[in-house]
Amino acid sequence: MMDNNSLNNLIISAKSDLEAGQSTYDLRIKYLGKNSEIFKSFKLLPSLSSDEKKEFGPLLNSIKANLELLLQEDVKTSKISQDYTAPLKVHKHGHSHPTDYTMALMINIFSKLGFKVFETPEIEDENDNFSFLRVAKDHPARDMQDTFWTTDEKVLRTQTTAFQRRALEQFKPPFAVIQAGKVFRAESEDATHLSELNMLDGFAIGTDLNFTHLKGVLYNFLRQLFGNDVKVRFRPSFFPFVEPGAEMDMMCLKCKGSGCKACGNSGWLEIIGCGITHPEIIESAGLDPNIYHGIAFGIGVERIAMRMFEMDDIRELVKNNPEFLEQLT
Ligand SMILES: [Zn+2]
Repeated sequence: MMDNNSLNNLIISAKSDLEAGQSTYDLRIKYLGKNSEIFKSFKLLPSLSSDEKKEFGPLLNSIKANLELLLQEDVKTSKISQDYTAPLKVHKHGHSHPTDYTMALMINIFSKLGFKVFETPEIEDENDNFSFLRVAKDHPARDMQDTFWTTDEKVLRTQTTAFQRRALEQFKPPFAVIQAGKVFRAESEDATHLSELNMLDGFAIGTDLNFTHLKGVLYNFLRQLFGNDVKVRFRPSFFPFVEPGAEMDMMCLKCKGSGCKACGNSGWLEIIGCGITHPEIIESAGLDPNIYHGIAFGIGVERIAMRMFEMDDIRELVKNNPEFLEQLT
């Protein structure tokens, strides 16, 4: 028959066995297994009087819990861990999505160049996304950006450039800010176009900024991403919020300019849209355009990811195919 002392002694005895170097695996069998004192005592419990049950029930549970705690499976001493033929427990870790990875890299480079990260909403006023940036209601440039409208005349921003008005409102020149995030365009998707994509926009205003600064910043950015051999060229281009505006092309890394499939045989890749901030934008922020000048640029994050990972189809980035994505980052 069970008694308090012999039950309490189980813990003392288990402790000394453990200290003597017996494995937790063996001790669990001895103290908690089917032939153990505690197991037998539990079996006797139903035959006890109700007073005895009240005394021994909680005691048995407490001793069992203490033994469990004392004899927790110790990986170093358990027999199971000594079975070298058992399959390894390999934990699978997640990893950054290639788009996020690329975006973080880009933000990091511009941060080091002195640009502050500034965030604005993905649903924007029509004014911030278009009118303030000199894209009036009937301007043909709106046709180039087929847009998702909400029912109250707001838009899912078509460009991260939509942050310029808020930046001019919030910061006193001189300032330099970037914003990276999602933009939305109602366009049909193909190997180089997505309807929901990520952009990084840069915007700086100061008294002494000119095209040389713009070129220096962007050239530095590309060299940090793709190495010192990067070659670039600027072509005149039109964006309503800059004057002059330019496309910055990078010499194709694959063919070094001689022409291949990746660059459509031109030897060059369109990579960044940029320019000098239009005086009207500076003026509409209450600043004198004869004193203040700005630089602005916009970069497609997925386009950069495609170049970094040498991908042929931009849609692979949104297909959620882990086997493909795991190869990249
Ligand atoms: Zn090429």
